[in-house]
Amino acid sequence: MAKLDPARWWAIRPAQNRKPATYRCPLCGYHLHAMTSHMLIAPEGDASRRRHAHAECVLAARRAGRLPLHEDWQKTQPREPSLLRRVFRR
Ligand SMILES: [Zn+2]
Repeated sequence: MAKLDPARWWAIRPAQNRKPATYRCPLCGYHLHAMTSHMLIAPEGDASRRRHAHAECVLAARRAGRLPLHEDWQKTQPREPSLLRRVFRR
């Protein structure tokens, strides 16, 4: 069963792996071979929890809005009130 860690945003980059290993894609649950081109996705940029995923699964999840990037997430955050406004609020 495919399972993704809960994360507010994801760091996504192409994987460059020359190690003959097999991973399980967290998006579709199927195996993927490290020698084929694929992506690395890390919840909130945490490299220790990064996962190898099929490039097509990452693209499909991106289109479905399931893998927001840091910049996507930032856009959804309320802006910090300006320092001036904070000073005059009290
Ligand atoms: Zn996949």
